[in-house]
Amino acid sequence: IGRSRLDKLLSEKLNIKRKDVRLLLAQKRVAVDGCLALDIDLIVDTFSQITVDDEPVQANQAKYVMLHKPVGVVSATKDDIHKTVIDLLDFEYKDSLHIAGRLDLNSSGLLLLTNDSRWSEMLSKPDNKVAKEYHVTLANKLTVDMIPAFLNGMYFEFEDITTKPATLEILSDYVAKVELIEGKYHQIKRMFGRFRNPVVKLHRQSIGNLQLDATLMPGESRELHPFEVQSI
Ligand code: URA
Repeated sequence: IGRSRLDKLLSEKLNIKRKDVRLLLAQKRVAVDGCLALDIDLIVDTFSQITVDDEPVQANQAKYVMLHKPVGVVSATKDDIHKTVIDLLDFEYKDSLHIAGRLDLNSSGLLLLTNDSRWSEMLSKPDNKVAKEYHVTLANKLTVDMIPAFLNGMYFEFEDITTKPATLEILSDYVAKVELIEGKYHQIKRMFGRFRNPVVKLHRQSIGNLQLDATLMPGESRELHPFEVQSI
């Protein structure tokens, strides 16, 4: 999120000198989020609602969208070959959005998009322990020795990292529920790869407290309710 001092932002937006900004403030013509603003050093951000003489100078709205990502669509904003998740959306502001936690081309499920980078960073930081839950279908039978292996973490030479504790619950012979608090490149596929067990299907069911809305068909999306944005 772009944070800035109010005088700097007004000077840039209105293309006027800082001393003229001070005058505007002294004349009580500036409001931030509906409150009279008098201080040049007030810190504002991209989503602060700023008016001069009740005319909007900055009116960006934070947007939060959930998409039921189908298989075969790429988690990127631009791609030369495949359809992107942005192509599936129908909001006029869709080009302002970025992806909060990608899914592989052949993975499906809950994908979040936003223009609020503070929120998306909060979701992706492992320290915040926001659990991402996946339903995974394997080519070969699951075995109980996978459970401690996921919990203890696996070392990946390529990035020189050890994965954070992950939980694996065996739901049936070929289906597991996996919970991660991070999202390394192809992480789940590579973890099952250690057991020579290819992933056949990978579906993200939830991120934190937010479940994929069961009424959304693959490819469909909707905005989050404010309580959902807070609840994660
Ligand atoms: N792990 C993977 O391997 N792929 C995903 O899409 C998500 C987690």
